[in-house]
Parts: sequence; C-alpha cells; structure tokens
Amino acid sequence: MKKILQDLGYERLVNLVQEFGEKKFRAEQLYKGLMLGKKISEINVSAALRAKLLEEYEDCPVRIIRTMRSSDGTEKYLFALADGNVIEGVLMKYKYGNTQCVSTQVGCRMGCKFCASTLGGLVRNLTSGEILSQVLTVNALAGGTVEKRAVTNIVLMGSGEPLDNYAQVTEFLRNVSASGGINISPRNISLSTCGIVPRIYSLADEGLSVNLTISLHQTTDEGRARTMPIAKKYSVSEILKACEYYFEKTGRRYIFEYSLIAGENCGKEHADGLIALLKGRPCHVNLIRLNEVKERNLNTVTEKEAYRFLGLLEKGGLSATLRRQIGNDVGGACGQLRASYLNEDTRGDKNDD
Ligand code: SAH
Repeated sequence: MKKILQDLGYERLVNLVQEFGEKKFRAEQLYKGLMLGKKISEINVSAALRAKLLEEYEDCPVRIIRTMRSSDGTEKYLFALADGNVIEGVLMKYKYGNTQCVSTQVGCRMGCKFCASTLGGLVRNLTSGEILSQVLTVNALAGGTVEKRAVTNIVLMGSGEPLDNYAQVTEFLRNVSASGGINISPRNISLSTCGIVPRIYSLADEGLSVNLTISLHQTTDEGRARTMPIAKKYSVSEILKACEYYFEKTGRRYIFEYSLIAGENCGKEHADGLIALLKGRPCHVNLIRLNEVKERNLNTVTEKEAYRFLGLLEKGGLSATLRRQIGNDVGGACGQLRASYLNEDTRGDKNDD
C-alpha cells in the first residue's frame, strides 16, 4: 500500500512540498484540495508535483462504494480502503447539524457480545488520514466545503475501539480540529470507548477536550463481563475514577451509553444500580434499544420497557435520554453493514461501483 497524504497535517505538507523542491504555496493548494475531499489527481497543483506525489501516495485512500438512504434522512456508507478492506460510516441529520459516525479500525478485538463489528476480530488499525478521509469524503458528498461544513459533528462510534488505536486516533483529532483545515471543534466530537482505563487518563492529558462517552451497559463488574470481555481487565469503579479525572482536566461532562438488552440489564435492580453509581456526577446516560445482530442471540426491549427504564433513572435523579432509533432500515448498528457486505462477498454476488 502507498502512503496516505491525509495523514500529514499542514506543517508536514509544507515540509514535503519543499523536499520536492516546490514553493510553499503549493502546500496551501494541496491542503485546501485535500480538505475539500479531492483526490490528489483532482487538485490544482503543477503536473510535476502531482506526478511525484502519486508515485508515493494513494490518490484516494477512502472511496465510497455504496450509499444507503433511510426514509428519515440518515445515510449509511460503505467505504473501500486502498488495500481492499471495507469500513462503514453513517451521517445522521438533525435540526442543529449533521453528525457523522466514523470508524477507527477495520473490525475490532474487544469482543463485545452484542456488537457486529467484532465478529471477525481486528483486521487492522486505520491511519489518522484514513479516519480523516471518511469525514472529508462525506462532507464533500453532502455538499459541504471548508467554510460551510455539511458535517458539523463527529462521533467515534463506528467500527473499532478508538482507544485501542490511540496514536492514530489522537492524531486524527488534532488534524480534524486544526484551525486552517476542516476545523471541527472538539466540543462537537465524541469519542466512545468500552473502557480502556489507562488510555482515558492519557486522553485527559492530551489537551484535546473532546466529549468522552463510555459504553457501560451494566452496573456491576460481573454483569458487565458477561457481554464485555474488557470488564475482566478494568472495573466499573476504575472507569468512574478515570471519568472524574477526565472531568477535572477538561471540564467536560461525560456520557454513558447503555444499550438495553432484554433479560440482561433493564430491570429495576439495574436502574437502582445505575442511580447508585452515577447520582451526583457530572454525567448523562444515553439509553439505546439494542439493535439485534443476527449472529448474536440477544434481544432488544420494547419501546414501552425502554421508557419505563428511562423513567426510573429520571426519578432517581439522573440526567438521561432514550436515543431515538434512526436509520434502522439501512443496516442498523455498528458493523452490521460491513458484516452483511462481507457475507455477500463470500456468496460472490458483490456488484458495487
Ligand atoms: N468501541 C467503542 C465505539 C464503538 S460502538 C465503544 O465500545 O464505545 C458505539 C456504541 O454502540 C457503543 O456504546 C457500543 O457498545 C454500542 N453498540 C454496539 N453494537 C450495538 C448493538 N447491536 N446495539 C446497540 N448498541 C450497540
């Protein structure tokens, strides 16, 4: 695989262009083109520079090979990487702007029992430029520019565990929020983790101030370990301590994701457990009804049950919301679109492009 130009921030592009014996303004042209989601071959620089770049760098590291539109406006994308791997992403449309969900790894090795992304294990980490290119490509597709962005918010909730690809993910966060670039504010970016505690501390010290989201899904270590292997390594109380540290360092309220699974985590005792753990903390709970994954034997709850659980949390004094289910008709949760695409692939009826 060739190198990825989108891995480089503006300063490093300047160095590269000068190494090629070109003037500095070429780096500006190049950077501007990249931020507009263009391929190297489409950017208005000298033909000589383009040719030199294309010898070493991927023309288009992330290419949309399939788009699915939901009746509610949500769009799901399947992207092909230069090495033929595929990843997926979503663009959700809200009144206040558009939120893009990006992937940070091809597959995942965390092994959560309800999640489709981890079914085939981890294939590889994405580079910072491959993560950034997902945003640049979708922003361009949705008619956005650098001055007027179509993508206003980002959640790192696609395939992969962001804190298991720490260096590339933090580099991506710096580049996507760089003031001369697409410049999406860290306030509008949420990083979601299954709870890799030491990396939560590192992230707090990084000075990036993105929103931190923890996938909790249970109230006890034993309960959590039933569906999330990472719980055997880090306890809920260690996670809460790390969240406190994150709040001290960044001043940002943290969020807990809690996917409701029938018979697993949505009884009164679980609501009480959550209240005991979280009451008085500067946090919010996001409830999600499980998106059933056909390879997994777990069931979701009814809307009524979900609202009942929400009511218990609110009565207990927690700030909580039940996430509206969107885009259900276009491949559901995290990893499902890629998983179904890979299944098709083995049946030999792939017909994209
Ligand atoms: N690895 C990160 C981010 C990816 S998943 C993490 O664990 O947080 C984004 C969120 O979707 C997580 O809260 C994850 O637990 C949840 N999730 C995954 N599969 C799901 C499913 N089938 N139904 C509901 N939520 C799911």
